[in-house]
Amino acid sequence: MFSLFDLGFGPDFQSQLDTLSDPSLVPARVVLEHGSRYLTLTTAGETEAVLAGRWTFASEERPAVGDWVALQPGQPGRIVHLFQRRSWLVRQAAGRRTQAQVLAANVDKVFVITSTGRDFNPRRVERYLVAIQGGGAEPLVVLNKADLSPDPASLVAELEAIAPGVPVLAVSALHASGLEALHVHLHAGCTVAMVGSSGVGKSTLINRLLGQEALVTGEVRERDGKGRHTTTHRELLPVPLEDGSRAMLVDTPGLRELQLWAPATSLSGVFADIEALAKACHFRDCTHEHEPGCAVREAVTQGELDANRLTSLHKLAREQQHHAARQDSHLREDLRRKEKQFGRLSREINRLHPKRRR
Ligand code: GDP
Ligand code: ZN
Repeated sequence: MFSLFDLGFGPDFQSQLDTLSDPSLVPARVVLEHGSRYLTLTTAGETEAVLAGRWTFASEERPAVGDWVALQPGQPGRIVHLFQRRSWLVRQAAGRRTQAQVLAANVDKVFVITSTGRDFNPRRVERYLVAIQGGGAEPLVVLNKADLSPDPASLVAELEAIAPGVPVLAVSALHASGLEALHVHLHAGCTVAMVGSSGVGKSTLINRLLGQEALVTGEVRERDGKGRHTTTHRELLPVPLEDGSRAMLVDTPGLRELQLWAPATSLSGVFADIEALAKACHFRDCTHEHEPGCAVREAVTQGELDANRLTSLHKLAREQQHHAARQDSHLREDLRRKEKQFGRLSREINRLHPKRRR
């Protein structure tokens, strides 16, 4: 039914499986989580699974949608091991201790969707980019509803300016135009997710990508109370590709409702333009708020840098400091370790999943 490769498996997970040295275990990917019950996908198809006993007591991290686990086959199967993640999307969970809640694991690319018209929101896009960068997934900006704008190119340019090095694509999900450019970024075994405010067209785009496969996999699309189409029952879905292989799409309510993630790592990359300007600031640790000889504020005065962008940086930097201070040292240590690991892994993944050629 599915090859492990289509599902996003790779040698990094294989070597983790090997170290368990139990030939009865099979690799499985989490499709849906409901308390301690899971729905997983294996090469044999969908399998229900429960967590092995030790999770009942341990504060050990539980598998999330997109995670790879080692399964002891059965009815239901037993999840005995959670594999180290390549990447993750997190939301700061409310609670006594600040804890990152993993919304989706092992996501390779995140489509940040904005749209023309009143939902056009570069500031929000910036926020998403910062949050994504923290988890190691690769972002892509999608300007939807290009059909409604007389000049989508200027909006694309505006987005490109706030997202240096990030591809920006203009599409119309409704009229299915511009989607080929988006498909170029999908390849076999690649896992994608979509984020963006309500109404920008995520559902429409997801329906386009899933196409006939949605019916084949028994997907039910229905309208929720707000008249939106929602996906029921599956939060990890196969995306059919032209060559017959599949990519995977993570579509969880948590991601759809996501308003804000706490930034988990540096703001650099996303604000590379400001960083470049900052090289000319008088003070090396200039915060660009009040210091004399600030080249960044000078650029704003000269009209070379959008003042909103500097405000965004200040706001996000303050939020980040706030969260960093609250995050317990254990979590920070964990993030650092995973980040290092991810650097190594992403090089390996790039080698193994060559970009699809047109
Ligand atoms: P979501 O809340 O992000 O999932 O947004 P939806 O996919 O539900 O879309 C919200 C509304 O925008 C719906 O009425 C869609 O038909 C409409 N829409 C989505 N994509 C496009 C597009 O490319 N062009 C136009 N004109 N309308 C669109
Ligand atoms: Zn400065």
